[in-house]
Amino acid sequence: MTSRIEDLCVQKGLKMTDQRRVISRVLSDATDHPDVEEVHRRAAAIDHRISIATVYRTMRLLEEAHVIDRLDFGDGRARYEGTRTDHHHHLIDVNSGEVIEFTSEEMERLKEAIARELGYDLIGHRLELYGVPRNRRSDSGDGA
Ligand SMILES: [Zn+2]
Repeated sequence: MTSRIEDLCVQKGLKMTDQRRVISRVLSDATDHPDVEEVHRRAAAIDHRISIATVYRTMRLLEEAHVIDRLDFGDGRARYEGTRTDHHHHLIDVNSGEVIEFTSEEMERLKEAIARELGYDLIGHRLELYGVPRNRRSDSGDGA
C-alpha cells in the first residue's frame, strides 16, 4: 500500500528508497504542519535508521518536485504540508502556535484585482495571518 505523497513522487519520476517511502508516509499522514525535526521524530519511530540529514535531503527533494510546500510561520522554522488541491491559508495563533486553516473567496478576488490594477497577472502568492485569541488580548498589557 503506497501513500499519497509516494504516489506523487513516483508520478514525478523520483526514485523511491525505503527511507523516502517512510518519510512520504509520515507526510501523507500528517494533519498538522510539521517542521523537519518533527518529521524526523515520526519517521525515526517507524525506522530508527533514518537520520535527520536524510529527512532534510528528502524534504528538499520533495519540495523541489512540488510534492510538498514549505511554509513560513514567522518563527524561523520551516513547516511543511503536502501540496493540496484545495487552496488555503493559515492563521497562526502566536500564543499557542496553533495553526488554523482558512479559505476566503473574497480575498482571492481581491488579490487578483490588486495584481490586475498594477498591470500584472497573478501567478502565486503567500499569505499568513498572525493573531492572538480575542479573549486573551487583555493579557498583553496593551497601553500599560
Ligand atoms: Zn495548511
